[in-house]
Amino acid sequence: MNKKIIIHTLEDIALHMELLGENPFKVAAFRKAAGVLEQDPRSLSEMEDILSLKGIGKGTGAVITDLLEKGESDLLAELREEVPDGLIPLLKIPGLGGKKIAKLHKELGIDSAESLKAACESGEVSRLSGFGKKTEEKLLAELETFGQRPDKLPHWELESVVHMIENVLHAIPEAERFLVTGSYRRMAEMSSDLDFIVVTKLPDRVTEGLMNSLPVLETVASGDTKLSVTLDAENPVDVDFRFVAAEQFASAIHHFTGSKDHNVRMRQLAKERGEKISEYGVEQEDGSVLTFDSEKAFFAHFGLPFFPPTVRKDGTELERTAELDGLIRLDDIRSDLHMHTVWSDGAESVKEMAEACRKRGYSHMVITDHTHYLKVANGLTPERLREQIREIRAVDAEIDGITVLCGTEMDILPDATLDFDDELLAELDFVIASIHSNFSQPLEKIMERLHAAISNPHVDMIAHPTGRIIGRREGYSPDLEQLIEWTAEYGKILELNANPYRLDLAEEWLVLAQEKGVPVAINTDAHSTGQLGYMETGVRYAQRAWMNRDNIVNTWTLERFLDHLKG
Ligand SMILES: [Zn+2]
Ligand SMILES: [Zn+2]
Repeated sequence: MNKKIIIHTLEDIALHMELLGENPFKVAAFRKAAGVLEQDPRSLSEMEDILSLKGIGKGTGAVITDLLEKGESDLLAELREEVPDGLIPLLKIPGLGGKKIAKLHKELGIDSAESLKAACESGEVSRLSGFGKKTEEKLLAELETFGQRPDKLPHWELESVVHMIENVLHAIPEAERFLVTGSYRRMAEMSSDLDFIVVTKLPDRVTEGLMNSLPVLETVASGDTKLSVTLDAENPVDVDFRFVAAEQFASAIHHFTGSKDHNVRMRQLAKERGEKISEYGVEQEDGSVLTFDSEKAFFAHFGLPFFPPTVRKDGTELERTAELDGLIRLDDIRSDLHMHTVWSDGAESVKEMAEACRKRGYSHMVITDHTHYLKVANGLTPERLREQIREIRAVDAEIDGITVLCGTEMDILPDATLDFDDELLAELDFVIASIHSNFSQPLEKIMERLHAAISNPHVDMIAHPTGRIIGRREGYSPDLEQLIEWTAEYGKILELNANPYRLDLAEEWLVLAQEKGVPVAINTDAHSTGQLGYMETGVRYAQRAWMNRDNIVNTWTLERFLDHLKG
């Protein structure tokens, strides 16, 4: 259990109560308790008696006790039962919050997107107090595209579906071995479906096991070699399971991982040698089929080194074998330079984050909490930052095996000034500057803000330099070419944010940054110890751009890193 989960649960309860039209004072009590915990700088383990905090009452205290004892809240489970299924999805419609949806439900009986659409069309919604003609028109426009199935889903959205499927497959004894392939394995930002290769002698039993445990919406095909289903998730997901014999596994995963162009190139290579590649193996001139123990052995058959799935792209990778040795890998990473603690909107303390980074084998790390402009994240005032610096220095002195540096993730304000003055910034080891507000400003203003940050001698790095959420929002769309040029000019660092939702610095910009010699940092921006694991996503994404380990700041020794910061 951590603080973030408790806060989210309290907020979730408030939202469900609101949807049910509960007493506003009761709803407010849960929101208040969540706020009290968010504002408290201590982590859960540092709080001696969380129930005696001012703002935690009987009802909210019971929920917290539940969470601490059982890891889940009975009250939330009950509320989830009570709220009509169709109401929750409506929260995704811009302009509709819990209160408004409750009103629509109570007054007009609305319980789905369809009934809301009908009520808008008949003009009933605009007659409700607090809605009006304009709101009704806006809702209708939103409902036009609402619930439509997208062609492709972002990697982060598919990730939880992949984990669910993997858990189900692990529990089926007849599934001897399996792997997710396709563009998902290549770490594409978006994929249209999921392809699993499963080694089994009994496809029927595996099919039965899958059908029994997966949330299947529709079965598209089912046979001895393949099962195709559509699964119920946040958006429906198409999944193919292909059943193969153990000796075919390596060829099959290579074939279904692709890319198409990579496979075309491999087939050409085989043809030149009088061979033919298929999903089952490599056919020889005499008609016999060679199979392999691993993808590595498959590549070796053609005199090639192993190509990580992330670089299998347009076929030109076959000409880049010399770069494979320097390709960034997870075990090259020795630091994480961007993370949050309970001092702002993180879930754990400085010490807990430091312990977790040490366990990952890092030699150094930087604590970078938000600054006071970002009120929603409980950003630090100069006074609180100075207090935090003392705590970080103390943790650093206490903990062996890792160096804990003091940093900040400072807001770049809408008027192109910075949230802290130079005097305070000079007290820090590492300064990150970020845009978190006014994304819709004209490009010129956005660039003025970025320039103000990057030209400040104390600023070392620009974090998440686009603000995008993959598949959801564009971000503030800066002129990346210009930003990369400035970064080179001022000798700064750009961040590939490893959060799977973000991955700011899309592939083409990573390529350009590397070309211009701009150092790139892969940082998790973790808000809990668990999120430190995002590093793997970041590294795999960076591989797609053929990033060399020497260009990645997180592979540098502490000494080299500090030397670089000195300029
Ligand atoms: Zn940020
Ligand atoms: Zn951050």
